Amino acid sequence: MNYVSTDNKDALWGHRPWIISGPCSAETEEQVLSTARSLAASGKIHLFRSGIWKPRTKPGGFEGVGRVGLEWLKKAKSETGLPFTVEVATAKQVEEALEFGTDVLWIGARTTVNPFSVQEIADALKGIDIPVLIKNPINPDLELWTGALERMRGAGIRRIGLIHRGFSTYGNTEYRNAPLWHLAIEMKLRYPQIPMINDPSHICGRRDLLMDVMQRSVDLDFDGLMIESHPEPEQAWSDANQQVTPDRLIEMLEQVRWRAEDVNSDTFHSALDALRQQINQLDVEMLQLLGRRMQVAEEIGRYKKENNITILQAGRWQEIMENACARGEQVGLSREFITRYLEAVHMESINRQKRILDS
Ligand code: PEP
Ligand code: MN
Repeated sequence: MNYVSTDNKDALWGHRPWIISGPCSAETEEQVLSTARSLAASGKIHLFRSGIWKPRTKPGGFEGVGRVGLEWLKKAKSETGLPFTVEVATAKQVEEALEFGTDVLWIGARTTVNPFSVQEIADALKGIDIPVLIKNPINPDLELWTGALERMRGAGIRRIGLIHRGFSTYGNTEYRNAPLWHLAIEMKLRYPQIPMINDPSHICGRRDLLMDVMQRSVDLDFDGLMIESHPEPEQAWSDANQQVTPDRLIEMLEQVRWRAEDVNSDTFHSALDALRQQINQLDVEMLQLLGRRMQVAEEIGRYKKENNITILQAGRWQEIMENACARGEQVGLSREFITRYLEAVHMESINRQKRILDS
């Protein structure tokens, strides 16, 4: 396996899928070297990751080994050829990471939320040409994620990647961090040229869910994966529940059904085109019908105004909902979908009628 040499960092972006792995935290020299050796030997990993400074929610936990860990990473790189990335949160950390030849920097979820910290990193990077990966903020706020990206661009960083690692939510879900896939997709649409990498480890928080989330991100056309691996996951000093051995990781990567965004086949393309035409046509028809429905709702609004009656008529709304759900079920549309759809339509009707009643 030919790893990309570090004096040609541009080539780092040439891989798709781009696979990043390594332990949550560097713990000992032996642990770093052993993980890097196994990952490099597989030939399937493009970038080695490891936390050197760990942001912990509460004091007293393992806060990372610090500077000495950078020496281990440097050693692992010279031995295996694997370039490496570390998380940075302050200007001092940026400086130290660069001093040891870090190939890529990443900004953690707890840092992306803080514009002061992100700006401090950006300022420390002025004039330095290094790729930066930006994790989503812990809270589901796309503007913060976008803001971090703009700050990096403002500092002249050309190679930026985004990492979707899920969002904190209150209450229990099966995930440690709710994926809220639609937010990552929205970011992909905002920045189609920027690679979007999925981090199943921090989304899942537990090993047994990883495979499922990996597959999902591949199906959603993500550009790569960042997954934590450790020679003895159960003994890990941080994130023990979600790490897997390098061997297990390789096995999972082999099981993923990789999909192409596009294929060079005329038959495939003409079949797809025909289906897309149908979708376009159906969308036109649905929009025309929706427009027509809103006109009728407005007529009703004028009638309500003349007779001075309320806009919302609970009984009528129930009736519409029940009829639609029953009909929907006959054509394979779930009650949940019909409810969401009709609520949106109903809200728009109410707004239009309100405008008429207020006029
Ligand atoms: C990590 O990658 O180990 C990490 C701290 O992740 P996050 O910033 O996504 O919580
Ligand atoms: Mn971790």
